[in-house]
Amino acid sequence: MINYEMKYRAFQVRNFREIPQIEALSEEEKQNIEIVGNVFPFKVNNYVIDELIDWDDYLSDPIFRLTFPQKDMLSETDFETMKKALDENVDRKTLKTIADSIREKLNPHPAGQMELNVPKYQGEELHGVQHKYKQTLLFFPSSGQTCHSYCTFCFRWAQFVGMDGLKFAARETEQLLGYLTEHHEVTDLLFTGGDPMIMSFKVFKQYVEPFLDPNNGTNIQTIRIGTKVLGFWPYKFLTDKDAQDFLDLFKKITESGINLTFMAHFNHENELKTDAVKEAVRLIKQTGAQIRTQSPLIKNINDDADMWARMWRKQVNMGMIPYYMFVERDTGARHYFEVPLEKTWEIFQKAYQQVSGICRTVRGPSMSCTPGKVQILGVSEIPINGIFQKVFVLQMLQGRNPDWVNRPFYAKYDPNARWMDDLKPAFGDKFFFEDELEEFYETANYNEEFA
Ligand SMILES: *Cc1c(COP(=O)(O)O)cnc(C)c1O
Repeated sequence: MINYEMKYRAFQVRNFREIPQIEALSEEEKQNIEIVGNVFPFKVNNYVIDELIDWDDYLSDPIFRLTFPQKDMLSETDFETMKKALDENVDRKTLKTIADSIREKLNPHPAGQMELNVPKYQGEELHGVQHKYKQTLLFFPSSGQTCHSYCTFCFRWAQFVGMDGLKFAARETEQLLGYLTEHHEVTDLLFTGGDPMIMSFKVFKQYVEPFLDPNNGTNIQTIRIGTKVLGFWPYKFLTDKDAQDFLDLFKKITESGINLTFMAHFNHENELKTDAVKEAVRLIKQTGAQIRTQSPLIKNINDDADMWARMWRKQVNMGMIPYYMFVERDTGARHYFEVPLEKTWEIFQKAYQQVSGICRTVRGPSMSCTPGKVQILGVSEIPINGIFQKVFVLQMLQGRNPDWVNRPFYAKYDPNARWMDDLKPAFGDKFFFEDELEEFYETANYNEEFA
């Protein structure tokens, strides 16, 4: 049933005890949420609470774990430090200092995002823009840098906790247009965040409208919207007051000849079960927009091959296109969420083998790391010095240098490897791209502020 009275309401660390269902939790469980929720961003809304989480079994519910901070996300020491601070009722400033010192240890800015990918326009750095791969520009509109609910595993978590200098902010659509006018290699503009679909219609329209003008001087052919709105707030397109305005604008975009694609973030099949999400998907598709889906593989939430196969099938049945499976990134509470690379590949393979070719548009598992998007093709055995040895076979789906893409390469087998920097070349002492990457570092427009 779709609740046509639905109005958005969010809960955060300061008021989550007002959530009616939270009464089912013990006082200790509530305190744990409070302790961890003071380090990592925490926000959850009424749709997630009322329609997605199964409160009869919340402890093993994937959407509960996806949105409510979990005790084991912090190490025992950090947990105790934060617990003590809260027990002692320290002032807000001290609390933030303590929280920041814990955050600093958790690699808040993975994969050189800050130093290496900020382009320049007319001598000035374009903050709020990342240009890593030739054809696609990431744009972080300043008013799209929050979400309807936060994911506990979020790799952009540091943006939401107010650490100094860490927030990308886009000031000017004008600057963006200027840059794109000079960079006709860019065909895709990817609005990301946060969640650009948190923006009101009035604001969103301002960013998009220039691209509807065929004489805007850019070569943008595809507008992508990286969003979790379908998983966390499908009522955006059903009951929010500007729902119809959004749908009308999407239609206007597709009718202008621009390919509009939602890069929809779904982590679990349970996010596809409600009438609200089904209706929102139907309405968006009706505008002529496409919906492609992506998610990382995350322990304690979706590390189950059969679930992935069902999820991809359901997405296809709803008219969506599976796109990427990612490896959980090397940031935040990674010890709680990460799955070793070999296991990740096994889950991908086992899921992939269960679905027809229509679902096999999905690619992965992929690591978004400094050189590019590195896909794990699998574990194989090849003779090294006459002896058969296990290796990881890898390739890049995207590369900082396009020439690196689609070249198979090999890493030593390591059952515990969890990320690119755990991998060693199987032959020689360097991966084929390392020298060039080194040069990149040296010439990059390195920003001291974020060092
Ligand atoms: C993933 C990603 C893109 C988009 O890559 P596609 O393979 O075209 O979907 C663009 N920029 C960055 C920095 C990315 O990580």
